[in-house]
Amino acid sequence: MKKIFYTLICFPFIFSCNKSEKKDQEKTQTNLYNNSVDSSEIILDEELADTIKKAETKLTTNQEELIGKGNPTLVRKDNYALLPEAAKAFDKMKAEAKKAGFNIHVISSYRNFDYQNGIWNRKYNSNSKDLTPEKNIQKIIEYSTIPGTSRHHWGTDLDIIHSTTGIPTDPLNEKHFNKGGSMEKFKAWLDENSEKYGFYLVYTNNPSRKGFKYEPWHFTYKPLSQKMLQDYIKLDLNTILKTEKLAGSQSFTPEFINQYKKEQILDINPAIK
Ligand SMILES: [Zn+2]
Repeated sequence: MKKIFYTLICFPFIFSCNKSEKKDQEKTQTNLYNNSVDSSEIILDEELADTIKKAETKLTTNQEELIGKGNPTLVRKDNYALLPEAAKAFDKMKAEAKKAGFNIHVISSYRNFDYQNGIWNRKYNSNSKDLTPEKNIQKIIEYSTIPGTSRHHWGTDLDIIHSTTGIPTDPLNEKHFNKGGSMEKFKAWLDENSEKYGFYLVYTNNPSRKGFKYEPWHFTYKPLSQKMLQDYIKLDLNTILKTEKLAGSQSFTPEFINQYKKEQILDINPAIK
């Protein structure tokens, strides 16, 4: 991208691209680039801009990858597994957070179908004595996804906290991020900075939002996941979920699946759709 812009800008001056002109043109290039992107995407530097642009253009996904049954190439380190472009941007955000005094700790990132199915089965079985299958499913989908429908299958989403003051026994609890909680200042830092690196909150605290409850810890790397969501919603979820022998899947009526799609999958932060 950088090269293309530079070529375009330099073309009229192809014989006179000396160093000082190059500097001026780099400034123009930055301005041009900034004008060409959504103003909500503040680009920190050229390298990050390049990473994001490449991520958006090169991405191809198939159904298996979108439902957690693929074999994506992931970068695995520091307690995370993410697609390479998301990992690169995350490393930058993590380094910047460290300068501000926050040690970002990843609770969860990529999860495949089988892993999600394990979560699903555990929750379903532990509720099944007290709840009807329908009520059981409604209870699970307050926070957890049906296997095959998790954004954690994409390698773009992760749950984060900061561990500077220790890791709570129940780290993914909203109260830590609220006023007076141990993550309150970290949340303020994320509000201020995460989008600069491409990371957006998915399940916001907008009171009129349906679907999953407020998750102040769950972020998505928008330059990759926006396109993946667009591909995902074209899948035939009714057929996919009926084919899998999931606990409670006898209650997955077409009406239920359509509502799940509308609320759990699509009633999210509008900035990432
Ligand atoms: Zn999550």
